[in-house]
Amino acid sequence: MARQCPDCKINLRTEEILGIELDICPTCAGIFFDDGEMVKLKDQGDDAFEEVDEQVQPEQPFEPTGENITRMCPSCGEVMDEFKYLYTTHIKLDSCPKCSGTWVEHGELEAMQKALADAEVQPMNESLMRTLKHQLAIAKEEVAHEQRLYRQRRMTQVLRLLTLRRAGPPFWF
Ligand SMILES: [Zn+2]
Ligand SMILES: [Zn+2]
Repeated sequence: MARQCPDCKINLRTEEILGIELDICPTCAGIFFDDGEMVKLKDQGDDAFEEVDEQVQPEQPFEPTGENITRMCPSCGEVMDEFKYLYTTHIKLDSCPKCSGTWVEHGELEAMQKALADAEVQPMNESLMRTLKHQLAIAKEEVAHEQRLYRQRRMTQVLRLLTLRRAGPPFWF
């Protein structure tokens, strides 16, 4: 099934911009990013977000559809989760919990670029730092847990190996 704009319910068209194939709504200029595409775009340079926003223009002057609408993922149809870009900005994006795609409304990319630049200028933005530290702590705990599991598995393997040796006939003596 063709991907559709979650707001206008019309088919998205694909267009390659800065080497990335994006799904764009011809009416509202909203863009769907598949998982990983937004990072790829960011890697195209400091002005990449703004450039895409300029290249992709809505048919008519854009009017936001309202903030609290539920969007369905254009790719897999899941209900998307609204989140704030960089956790603390007013820019609300929608992300799909299933395929990790992101829906971005027209103008939001430019705002994201500004927010990103501000965050880099003021890295001590306290509440952002708190959130990031918290996320990092969770990630570390997960890593530690993985490592514990790995050590346990290794230990089991070693024990099994030792047991086998002991149980086996020592024919080489
Ligand atoms: Zn649309
Ligand atoms: Zn999805």
